[in-house]
Amino acid sequence: MRVAVLSDIHSNLVALDAVLAHAGTVDAIWHLGDVVGYGPDPDGVVARLIEVGAVGVRGNHDAAALGGPEIDWFNPEARAAAEWTRDTIDGTTRAWLSALPERRAIGRISLVHGSPRDPIREYISSTDVALENLAVLETDFGLHGHTHVPVAFCLGPDEQLRVAGPASGPGSDGVLALDGQRALINPGSVGQPRDGDPESSYLILDPEAATVTWHRVAYDIAAVQAAIRTAGLPGRLADRLAYGV
Ligand code: ZN
Repeated sequence: MRVAVLSDIHSNLVALDAVLAHAGTVDAIWHLGDVVGYGPDPDGVVARLIEVGAVGVRGNHDAAALGGPEIDWFNPEARAAAEWTRDTIDGTTRAWLSALPERRAIGRISLVHGSPRDPIREYISSTDVALENLAVLETDFGLHGHTHVPVAFCLGPDEQLRVAGPASGPGSDGVLALDGQRALINPGSVGQPRDGDPESSYLILDPEAATVTWHRVAYDIAAVQAAIRTAGLPGRLADRLAYGV
């Protein structure tokens, strides 16, 4: 079974379409929230996710787009984009975002945006935070986004935490085997990568074999930058896409 796991698409339809084309035929598409915010095409992204039958969870930018108080924690550019998104999205997008749960469990895997203990707000960006969340994780594996950085925190039977990522998968195929471990896994961001690599990041999960494989996909960044400027969104949101920050 092949599941494409996508996170932090952020209204970037050009990137989403490049990732879907790269993934090819899959058995399911799961998303980890922040479907909207920052980018120029919220309705297009939601329409595509509906079309491909994606299931997922709500992120802080999705909550902000619906009028939630999350907007109060945003920096000025994120806030401007959230206000633009609120004013732009159509009824279909609003209804679809409203229906997203904060967490979802599918078999032995949990889906959240931020972290298992605080699915909307917390960033899993250190081994301490990862360990605290592995302690409350109710399934073997937890998929999360929010930091826009592809990484996995794996807890072996020896209770030692190991940090793995796209470049550290054993063997030349880059496949990370999770069996016998518990793990928190971040696919990275489709629409606004922040690990210094501007190409879209996502992963393919095989739930039965308990393996994940990260992938990077090039997309037409210049086209999205132009659309961000045309929409009147802050220019820095366009600039950063070229650098992956
Ligand atoms: Zn995000």
